[in-house]
Amino acid sequence: MAHEPNVWKPFAGGTDLMVLLEAGKLPHKKYVSIRRLPELLGIRVTPEHVTLGAATTYTQVRRHELLADEFPLLCRAAAETGSIATQNRGTLGGNIANASPAADSPPALIVYDAELELVSFRGSRWIAYKDFHTGYKQSTLQPDELISRIRLSRNMGAWTQHYRKVGTRRAQAISKVCFAGAARVEDGKITGVRIAFGSIAPTVLRAAATEQLLQGARLSPALAKAAQEALALEIAPIDDMRSTASYRRRVAQNLLAEFLEKISA
Ligand SMILES: Cc1cc2nc3c(=O)[nH]c(=O)nc-3n(C[C@H](O)[C@H](O)[C@H](O)COP(=O)(O)OP(=O)(O)OC[C@H]3O[C@@H](n4cnc5c(N)ncnc54)[C@H](O)[C@@H]3O)c2cc1C
Repeated sequence: MAHEPNVWKPFAGGTDLMVLLEAGKLPHKKYVSIRRLPELLGIRVTPEHVTLGAATTYTQVRRHELLADEFPLLCRAAAETGSIATQNRGTLGGNIANASPAADSPPALIVYDAELELVSFRGSRWIAYKDFHTGYKQSTLQPDELISRIRLSRNMGAWTQHYRKVGTRRAQAISKVCFAGAARVEDGKITGVRIAFGSIAPTVLRAAATEQLLQGARLSPALAKAAQEALALEIAPIDDMRSTASYRRRVAQNLLAEFLEKISA
């Protein structure tokens, strides 16, 4: 990849690549399998962080007890991805690098303020995941770089977390809208809130204006209504073959209301 950038394409689980290859939509002719590189494997836990190798599969995420306990949004995303077969092969690194706005793990990773390690012959750099996607299917990943690790800070203990994927079916469906949220509530007041959506913008979207409205506010039906209105102004979903803009907007608002109900309880 260093010597012939844009010629060699990393191949992890192949669950995105094989679809494109079969459809004749892949210009690359050379693939390098990264699936068993030891540096890209394993889930490591320290008191401060959980660090996942980029070649960690969804099945490995789902089966990890500490992730289930502290990072349930990521485990739910893994469980909602494709089928068991896809979960056995598909990797977190592949999902991130593929940069689809309809992918299911990015909303969870954004809520967790994940960090990515990108490696190449030139060295290694850590970046905030929120800065990784720069546009539709575009990212800061250079042609000679690999995503090697994904790091999560273990500071979500006091947060209530909520994940919901809305698709055509309960399984094996691409999202129409995907929601991930986390909030800290003290005495009825929101002291911390993070909200992210998939499938309603060219990249995964952190609902910053809606968060700002909720931050520090006291939970009430009026607040929920105001937040839904703020969200509608903040997002610009599109019509496509899977859904319509108006359906997506309404569902996004409903998922926000569901989240606020959960944290109120
Ligand atoms: C039937 C089916 C159902 C699916 N359902 C869902 C779903 O519900 N939700 C969802 O989000 N996705 C879904 N997908 C898409 C896919 O499974 C995921 O995006 C998966 O995480 C891709 O990982 P992979 O390892 O298979 O990637 P690959 O296909 O191997 O690679 C995908 C892209 O990432 C690059 N890449 C892979 N790993 C790295 C790395 N470490 N560093 C740099 N670049 C890398 C590759 O070069 C390629 O461009 C589905 C796919 C199929 C076939």
